[in-house]
Amino acid sequence: MNDDLNRATFDDVMVPNYAPSSIIPVKGKGSKVWDSEGNEYLDLAGGIAVNGLGHCHPELVDVLKEQGEQLWHLSNVWTNLPALSLATRLTDATFADKVFFANSGGEANEAAFKLARKYAQDNYGPEKYEIISFFHGFHGRTLFTVSVGGQEKYTQGFEPLPQGITHIPYNDLDALREAISDKTCAVVMEPIAAEGGIINATEEFAKGVRELCDQHNALLVFDEVQTGVGRTGELYAYMGLDVLPDIMTSAKSLGGGFPIGAMLTTTKIAKSMGIGTHGSTYGGNPLACAVADKVIEIMSRPETLAGVKTKRELIVSQLNAINEKHGIFKEIRGKGLLIGGALTEEWQGKAREFLQAAMKEGVMILIAGPNVVRIAPSLIIPDEDIRSAMEKLAIAVDNVMAAATTA
Ligand SMILES: *Cc1c(COP(=O)(O)O)cnc(C)c1O
Repeated sequence: MNDDLNRATFDDVMVPNYAPSSIIPVKGKGSKVWDSEGNEYLDLAGGIAVNGLGHCHPELVDVLKEQGEQLWHLSNVWTNLPALSLATRLTDATFADKVFFANSGGEANEAAFKLARKYAQDNYGPEKYEIISFFHGFHGRTLFTVSVGGQEKYTQGFEPLPQGITHIPYNDLDALREAISDKTCAVVMEPIAAEGGIINATEEFAKGVRELCDQHNALLVFDEVQTGVGRTGELYAYMGLDVLPDIMTSAKSLGGGFPIGAMLTTTKIAKSMGIGTHGSTYGGNPLACAVADKVIEIMSRPETLAGVKTKRELIVSQLNAINEKHGIFKEIRGKGLLIGGALTEEWQGKAREFLQAAMKEGVMILIAGPNVVRIAPSLIIPDEDIRSAMEKLAIAVDNVMAAATTA
């Protein structure tokens, strides 16, 4: 590797769509990360809810090395054993009978939305194409998925957009009752609107959406790209909502850091994605599937998810302690280890200040939009790492408050 690389190189050679932090992380182990200068960080960001088993989990490293010496890639002209094993695990563990593999969350959703359209056309004719989704929703950055997502800031400048998509407020069953019709092919929702600010769907809402979909022969699509693979304490969040989707997508934690996405559905619906209707060169790649197969195996051990609830309680109690002192949060939201601290009116638009102050203290956190501080660590982060990260975070918040009063 070229050894004359630093953060300034980014501005020289990368498209400027990201604004990465000033440090360059070079190594991770569990919930600790080190940068190129040797500084240590505690990771409460988890690669945006991707590193569900922390950094360089030894069993994942072993399986990646093994597969790396066995078989890397073939394309879908041939199938492969890791893909078959992972698909078997996923269908055994969920409502689904069939799996389509992709390489990211956006691609898994692209497949889901195309399938919903195709299934409706195949079974009900060409007039049934409308997709209903929610403001605050996020489903990826391809043109179709960003259009189904409910945040205008991400579609501006990319018009004309795909048509036949209606957005309504989240958790508003009356709005859905009004919007849904026999032209609706699918309702697309996240069980927790994550990028949109960690907003939990109420159980009543999720059940109501299911009923309205059934009344109008519309498919219910759950985007579990962020909530899936143990994040909420269940393997998938729908399991805690007592609602079965027709199509579900998974990515982020599915590969534990190795890129993979999956769309899951029933045999009946999958029929509409017949030979030649959709595809991906890399989808179902043996390296990705071997790693994800091990991720799902580890997640399915009872001891893996056993700690999610208590780790959440530990983090939330510390956030509450910070809040008693400074009153910055109006609400702590989310489920399991997807945690959102929604800032009070006074701190609207300032979530990033807390993120930057935390980095200075050696803690990686996230934001979920400008008004919410987000925490999404490894699901097996040691309690002692949580305690020291939260102590540092408390100091970071003290610093933000001190700077605000002197300003
Ligand atoms: C991150 C995310 C996506 C997009 O996944 P990519 O891998 O970035 O394409 C889609 N939906 C949800 C809910 C997400 O959190």
